[in-house]
Amino acid sequence: MTEKKDSSVKTGNKKTQEITFRCQRCETLYPLEDMRSVTRFNPVLIVCKKCEKELR
Ligand SMILES: [Zn+2]
Repeated sequence: MTEKKDSSVKTGNKKTQEITFRCQRCETLYPLEDMRSVTRFNPVLIVCKKCEKELR
């Protein structure tokens, strides 16, 4: 009984082709608008806004 009725798994729906990036800190995929670059680091660290706050 592991059937899911919710469409939590997207298959072939390319209506909203979101560009996602993987946070280099928590390794979670986020849309581009949620990404921040931390220029304090070299090379620049691309993290989500949540991690960016924690890195301050
Ligand atoms: Zn993150």
